Amino acid sequence: LNRRLAGFGTTIFAEMSALALRTGAINLGQGFPDTDGPEEVREAAVRALRDGRGNQYPPGPGVPELRTAIAAHQRRRYGLALDPDTEVLVTAGATEAIAASLLALLEPGDEVVALEPYYDSYAACVAMAGATRVPVTLRPRGDRFRLDLDELRDAVTDRTRLLLINTPHNPTGTVLTREELAAIAGLAVERDLLVVTDEVYEHLVFDDAEHVPLAGFPGMRDRTVTISSAGKTFSFTGWKVGWVTGTPELVTAVRSAKQYLTYVSAGPFQYAVAEALALPDAYFDAFRADHRRKRDLLADGLRSAGFEVYRPRGTYFITADISPFGEKDAYAFCRALPERCGVVAVPVSVFYDDPEAGRGQVRFAFCKKDEVLTEAAGRLRRAA
Ligand code: PMP
Ligand code: GLN
Repeated sequence: LNRRLAGFGTTIFAEMSALALRTGAINLGQGFPDTDGPEEVREAAVRALRDGRGNQYPPGPGVPELRTAIAAHQRRRYGLALDPDTEVLVTAGATEAIAASLLALLEPGDEVVALEPYYDSYAACVAMAGATRVPVTLRPRGDRFRLDLDELRDAVTDRTRLLLINTPHNPTGTVLTREELAAIAGLAVERDLLVVTDEVYEHLVFDDAEHVPLAGFPGMRDRTVTISSAGKTFSFTGWKVGWVTGTPELVTAVRSAKQYLTYVSAGPFQYAVAEALALPDAYFDAFRADHRRKRDLLADGLRSAGFEVYRPRGTYFITADISPFGEKDAYAFCRALPERCGVVAVPVSVFYDDPEAGRGQVRFAFCKKDEVLTEAAGRLRRAA
């Protein structure tokens, strides 16, 4: 392993899912649903396969049907106008979109300001690009995590090239408000920064939270790369269909990197996701309502087991504090948890540059059947 990737051996998700498999524990670690997405979307994939659509290399930017559907989705949900031919790129999941964006836009030595705790691929991709990450820590205040805008401002230096934003935020469940996003946009314009914004949980916001795309703020259209994924919104994480939207210049740059990473992404699934994006609002409303119920179910269960729970406004993750349990080290806690009670969670400490910052935090995924969440909560309560 080269020096750039030293320390990025195995992702925590792979490690914890392997532990779940080995011990037969309930896996609330890695974020994937235990129920597949809509039947009609699966049928659409089968039809594409059978009809020979996408069985050979699809076009580099993605099949036109999907690019058109992505542009239509951005217009319908957010009023954002995109040219499907030049401003949309289909990728192998959001993971490739992140990698290709960072590899395309960063020079060695550039600084990237990213919210911490961060999704693990950010740090690895910044490192692969030869750039340096500068974390801005979301800190618990009351029952949720907050961004300190002064800290964000202070993190920007003359070497900063790019802000890497994630809202709704994995793992904390923070949904940045319109005011916070406006401040981020103002900073990007003032300091002439690029912004890569990971919005894969755009359809998972609860309570009074609202997902507002950063690309829609004044001055942002020309400097923002927006990333999303069908894995989250339609519960097909195995399909690896993601996308990037932005100006033709930015999308062309990201595509330059993408074409040498995977060249193109799996064909038949692209046709199916095009149909998924055109599902009526009722699908998206039910998806959100389902997850709000699951969030409440797991949050109540964790609280009654003794955890201190930070209430997520978005995503399908709950971050909880283990200190009421008399425990301090999240990593050790998560390694022991399957033996102790047959549940797997992910230590949030690994998503901080300084693991001390999140030493007592663990993340649970609630994209699981209600009975699975209830059983997991019961096991945790009995082990407490
Ligand atoms: N970004 C975030 C914040 C995520 O949580 C995930 C998936 N867990 C991804 C990107 C990757 O998405 P995909 O599976 O589409 O590659
Ligand atoms: N995004 C998922 C999570 O946060 C997992 C994705 C992965 O395993 N790379 O759990």
